[in-house]
Amino acid sequence: MAKQTIRDVDWHGKRALVRVDFNVPLEDGHITDDTRIRAAVPTIQYLIAHGAAVILMSHLGRPKNKVVESLRLTPTATHLAELLDRPVQTVPVTVGTEAEAASKALEPGAVLMLENTRFDAREEANDPSMAQDLAKLGDVYVNDAFGAAHRAHASTEGIAHLLPAVSGLLMERELEVLGGALEHPARPFVTIIGGAKISDKIGVIANLLGKVDALLIGGGMANTFLLAQGKSLGDSLVEADAVATAKDLLDQAANSNVTLLLPTDVVIADRFAANANTQVVGVDAIPAGWRALDIGPQTRAAYAKVVLEAQTVIWNGPMGVFELEPFAGGTRAVAQALADCPGMTVIGGGDSVAAVEQMGLADKVKHISTGGGASLELLEGRVLPGVAALNDK
Ligand code: ADP
Ligand code: MG
Repeated sequence: MAKQTIRDVDWHGKRALVRVDFNVPLEDGHITDDTRIRAAVPTIQYLIAHGAAVILMSHLGRPKNKVVESLRLTPTATHLAELLDRPVQTVPVTVGTEAEAASKALEPGAVLMLENTRFDAREEANDPSMAQDLAKLGDVYVNDAFGAAHRAHASTEGIAHLLPAVSGLLMERELEVLGGALEHPARPFVTIIGGAKISDKIGVIANLLGKVDALLIGGGMANTFLLAQGKSLGDSLVEADAVATAKDLLDQAANSNVTLLLPTDVVIADRFAANANTQVVGVDAIPAGWRALDIGPQTRAAYAKVVLEAQTVIWNGPMGVFELEPFAGGTRAVAQALADCPGMTVIGGGDSVAAVEQMGLADKVKHISTGGGASLELLEGRVLPGVAALNDK
């Protein structure tokens, strides 16, 4: 069911209480990647332009229910002020009289940033008393924190039951793109799943098998599928206790119209290190003592061909240990194929997004999701609590 958005509200004279995801990486108080802050700017600008006073709230890091000086939101407020080219006020508290007074005094078009929601133990417990305290700070609740929408916390879920609740523009776009691709994809619909462990993504693979035309598997998780086919993997990362599940998934794919592709060749190394000895071998010829750390050139070419012919592509999880240059080639080849694909291309997942950015191909992919965990849960076919709680259209 489609959700109401900020476009469905008359903002004149209203206070918008906006949950953003400003959970950015910080080093010595400096923001090292401001993607998530920039992603929230269109919503904030829309609200300002339509006469709302804007009160922002977010979590940052894992302060474990107490005030942690290094996890204050002040650096994000300072950075946002530069992006908006207008002042952003701050208060050193999340809720309570000081926050209430600041929010009441806010003029239309002004912006106020509350303190880290996770400083308050009631946030992650989704305590109704926290939601009630937050509700005093605004007239309408806006959720633009797609990256936190898989969590039922006071600022992402509880509050939505107390105020009119609508989605922001980032949230709307994430749901349209990822939800749209899953519900009514242009075909062929291809997904590429990689990363370290099959156990992290069994739910994703199982759900996608019922939806896609082709599923391409790479990364460490491919090893467990190859093991399930009886191959020797040497010292590769495998999950012995997931072999039965891998077999089931292979059977499911064989009994459906889905093409499931596994690597046919791999880059192997004699150690887990950038300066290890390496060679390319077929998946039937991995010697004892060696480990598969990337997909090989034949597999790259096969996967790229499928991607280039697709109308919709969703990619989650690197094809190899891309952090080490000798094992980055598979991930780079798939990233390049997505960049060259004329269809709708989407990347979700923290490490996959980092890989594409590192490779300088991020702006050639049509949509890069800001939510790792949230995008995975959507791909698993789950309902995100932060979305479910918003008002239906
Ligand atoms: P994402 O964050 O995109 O969902 P994951 O967290 O599931 O991706 O997996 C990323 C990690 O998987 C990377 O750190 C990468 O080094 C690792 N990885 C990929 N291929 C292999 C492999 N063959 N062996 C061991 N680790 C791998
Ligand atoms: Mg990851």
